[in-house]
Amino acid sequence: MKIICIGRNYSEHAKEMSSPVPDVPVFFIKPDTALLRNNNAFYYPSFTNDLHYELEVVLKICRLGKSISERFANRYYSEVGLGIDFTARDLQKTCKEKGLPWEIAKAFDYSAAVSPFIPKEELGDLTNLEFRLEKNGVVVQRGNTADMLFSFDKLISYVSGYVSFRIGDLLFTGTPAGVGSVVIGDRLTAYLGDRLMLDFLIR
Ligand code: MG
Repeated sequence: MKIICIGRNYSEHAKEMSSPVPDVPVFFIKPDTALLRNNNAFYYPSFTNDLHYELEVVLKICRLGKSISERFANRYYSEVGLGIDFTARDLQKTCKEKGLPWEIAKAFDYSAAVSPFIPKEELGDLTNLEFRLEKNGVVVQRGNTADMLFSFDKLISYVSGYVSFRIGDLLFTGTPAGVGSVVIGDRLTAYLGDRLMLDFLIR
């Protein structure tokens, strides 16, 4: 499986990164070695001094597909969860300045923490999902899928024009504003609506 991550899908986040709001989705890929599950602790990597959290809604792909049209895209995901796109912001800044790919900043081991998944029928209106991240019990990020620049269906359609989806692939749908750093000892908890989805430590 692979993990496809959307960048800049919330205009307030693009603004805080001093990045332009994109005309089409921006995406990158993390390998399966990036997965961090079961609320296992995240071990702070030695190659960064500025590790950031980015809380995102994650879709689990349930059908094989390529060049999927937007009107059929909702058939390709059946479950929704939350994930944290861990980012070595200092390395990413260097990559951006040099025009280099982002893998060392984004695709490293355990850089994709994911929650259990919930059948989408249980969540109601997917275009109005509230989610939030707390660091040590203090809310640091709040998002609502209503604020996405590109809808879930648009993202599936766009990405699948370039990269086929397989069953079990994960799509991180972008982070809202409020990204920030973590340090060893921090505890991250994430909620989808009122459901506790993630609860783990930075070690
Ligand atoms: Mg992200």
